[in-house]
Amino acid sequence: MTEKICLNCGRNSNEIPLLALEYRGETYHLCPQCLPVMIHKPHNLAGKLPGAENFAPANHEH
Ligand SMILES: [Zn+2]
Repeated sequence: MTEKICLNCGRNSNEIPLLALEYRGETYHLCPQCLPVMIHKPHNLAGKLPGAENFAPANHEH
């Protein structure tokens, strides 16, 4: 990955602060506004982040 863009909304670090995520040896970037998507609706990132469809949503139900 050459350009650092939010993997959900595609904004770059000139537009919004980006958080670096390390995953499977790769570095991905996500903006704070999209962080809740990864937390609550990770399947929305399927196709953008390999394996995202397998993330367990943090729904805190027991
Ligand atoms: Zn974003």
